[in-house]
Amino acid sequence: MADELEDLVDIDVYDDGKPVEFGWLQGPNAAAILAAVRGQGPVPKTGLATRRQLRALGLRPGGQNAMPGLSWRNGRRKAYFYRIELALPKRTPTLAQERALDRAMAARQTCPTCRRRYHYCLPLRTLGSCLECYDGTPADPATYTLPPGHTLAA
Ligand SMILES: [Zn+2]
Repeated sequence: MADELEDLVDIDVYDDGKPVEFGWLQGPNAAAILAAVRGQGPVPKTGLATRRQLRALGLRPGGQNAMPGLSWRNGRRKAYFYRIELALPKRTPTLAQERALDRAMAARQTCPTCRRRYHYCLPLRTLGSCLECYDGTPADPATYTLPPGHTLAA
């Protein structure tokens, strides 16, 4: 059992037995990655990037383990690194997923009484409607859209 667990140790090409820690711009290819994040250069094939940097490069960690890391401000700030060569392209949601997301948001933003869709989520669980329907607080017309087919009474 103990032997099996030891077999699962993650092998790290940058590992020299000590916990890896880099200062600002000291990681492998750090300068090239920073330039790519800023749109000033190509995405390097190898190197270590933080999750935010991966995102800016259109990548995601893709299931790899995070490794420590970057530390700055005397070790009070830390970030985890991911290997660019193991990162995968960022997933773009399918149309069906987008539709499902929009439907879920619409349910939370639409007042069941006046059918207006607000740009924020309504307190449906507590008030059950928008503030204007609940207690007459006038809603800012800039914060909602009218349901399709609805025309303003003028
Ligand atoms: Zn309402």
